[in-house]
Amino acid sequence: MASKRFRSTGRGTCRVCKRSVAASRMGVHLRAHLPDGGDASYDPYLPGGNRGSHYIIRVDDRGPFWMFLQVPGTRTLKDVDDFLRDEWLEGGFHLSVFTIGGIKYDSEPESAEHGETTMRYMLRDVLEGNAMFSYEYDFGTTTRLRLTVTAARVPPLVPREGTVVLAIHDAVGFVCDACGGAATVVCAYCTMLSDGSLLCDDCIKDHECHQSNPDAVLAVVQSPRAGMCSFESPPNIRRDW
Ligand SMILES: [Zn+2]
Ligand SMILES: [Zn+2]
Ligand SMILES: [Zn+2]
Repeated sequence: MASKRFRSTGRGTCRVCKRSVAASRMGVHLRAHLPDGGDASYDPYLPGGNRGSHYIIRVDDRGPFWMFLQVPGTRTLKDVDDFLRDEWLEGGFHLSVFTIGGIKYDSEPESAEHGETTMRYMLRDVLEGNAMFSYEYDFGTTTRLRLTVTAARVPPLVPREGTVVLAIHDAVGFVCDACGGAATVVCAYCTMLSDGSLLCDDCIKDHECHQSNPDAVLAVVQSPRAGMCSFESPPNIRRDW
């Protein structure tokens, strides 16, 4: 998606201290909240040795949508897949796959015959510090996310079970392809993939598809799935920390 279609502050909010931080600095910022600045080295042989068991993972779409997750190392790739689907993407049932070090971890075990494996692996068994990997959701209108481990095997920054959002981008503004004003809808037939599909309340009235079916519109949502699928629901992520 062309960046001229978005207005982004390039910043987001840290859940721990509630400060506004530049997207490019957020990984370092979160590490600074760790007890020893994020240099905790994992040593399973130390007494009580698992000093930290959590991962901090940056997830982004190489565009305006990004967040940092805290995930226990004992959670599986499937758990992360579920979280991304339910909370950030559309809560739909499309296929998805993580690619880590050339290995594909697929949401559908049936496709294991094509050299793919399942998502039933714990993070601590497949992810090291600084690992970069990818996630693809919906092989029809594919959403591609980039994931980066910014801290591995560290204590939790937020004392909560399961996967939690540690930081997220500021609200993204959508720009009308026709007039440059604030866009409110995407044509459901064209989807976000075609230029001219992201429109304001006025410009949608002149859009050809809209004239044949006025109901075929998608609301813009704060998600990498914005305008991609007619079954989408808004992301569930709460910002009222
Ligand atoms: Zn902070
Ligand atoms: Zn417009
Ligand atoms: Zn259209």
